[in-house]
Amino acid sequence: MTIPFDLDETLMRQMKARPSILIVDDQSLILHSMYQIFREEYEVFIATSGEQALETCEAQLPDLILLDMLMPGMDGHQTFKLLKANELTSNIPIIFITANQDSEEEARCLDAGAIDVIFKPVNPKVVKAKVHTHTRLKLQTDLLRKFAWVDGLTGLANRRHFDEALEKEWRQCQRKQQDLSLIFMDVDFFKRYNDFYGHQLGDTCLQAIANVMAKIVKRPSDIVARYGGEEFVCLLPETPIEAAYAIAQEFERGVRQLAIANVTSDVIRPEHAIPEKIITISQGVISRVPQANDNATEFVNMADQLLYLAKSSGRARIVAASS
Ligand code: GH3
Ligand code: MG
Ligand code: MG
Repeated sequence: MTIPFDLDETLMRQMKARPSILIVDDQSLILHSMYQIFREEYEVFIATSGEQALETCEAQLPDLILLDMLMPGMDGHQTFKLLKANELTSNIPIIFITANQDSEEEARCLDAGAIDVIFKPVNPKVVKAKVHTHTRLKLQTDLLRKFAWVDGLTGLANRRHFDEALEKEWRQCQRKQQDLSLIFMDVDFFKRYNDFYGHQLGDTCLQAIANVMAKIVKRPSDIVARYGGEEFVCLLPETPIEAAYAIAQEFERGVRQLAIANVTSDVIRPEHAIPEKIITISQGVISRVPQANDNATEFVNMADQLLYLAKSSGRARIVAASS
């Protein structure tokens, strides 16, 4: 979630990807012929019952499901309902396969939410064309969904993603009565950097900082996001202040090690007498166990105030507080 990715590269990979499909039918003859139709262009999974389909679907998350309506035990409709009710599988498009060639049946299937219907006996050309169209659409939708949560410049989570994650983790830490920590980070003297080196190098600098941050956080529930401009945030669920402070120190060390020259910087470290002239960052770190009458916006504001303190007391430092 926090590893930045190259958007162009992701797009290329997605366009070339071999989509996966799940074929569900109780008749082995049908399964066999469908498998032959698709095996070259698709990764094909098969299931011979509704129960098996649910299991395979959760494990493999195929891009498309071809679901037989008439099966002993759990039939197509029941299987369909359970797949749509499951958050993990609800987005997977489903094509119904039915032997009942009338338009009433077709309308019923489409009304229920199937994206298409295929009639038995299956015409290989028709089924191939339909599967091709729907898997392409599915991959495109996945990609758009992914982009909606990612910052275009850095590949980190964007502000929208952070806001959602904050709300979720806030509730979760409140329920578990665990510490939630937040690091608010801002690049020092970045306006001067842009004015002196140009916007292009400014962008490259932000990308390098994002890479450093993404590599430092390890847990799947940790989030590093671009909050806006040259401001970044790091949300650390179930993390006490000491651990969050240690991560902020790693961010500081990591950015310092990049040794990006900034001749416009006036930052002076106490142990140095003269400015270092490199890119540095300031950070505010807050930690608290969320309570019922708290709100997450105030939590973010407090981190921002701590960051302001770090700025006003000389920059290139961390100010932390728990409440
Ligand atoms: P301080 O040390 O107090 O944080 O000073 P600052 O100059 O970093 O802060 P200020 O908020 O005045 O300026 C932020 C600058 O960051 C403004 C703009 O030039 C730059 N910036 C914001 N977003 C981007 C971006 O996406 N790309 C580039 N290259 N620069 C950006
Ligand atoms: Mg700023
Ligand atoms: Mg700044």
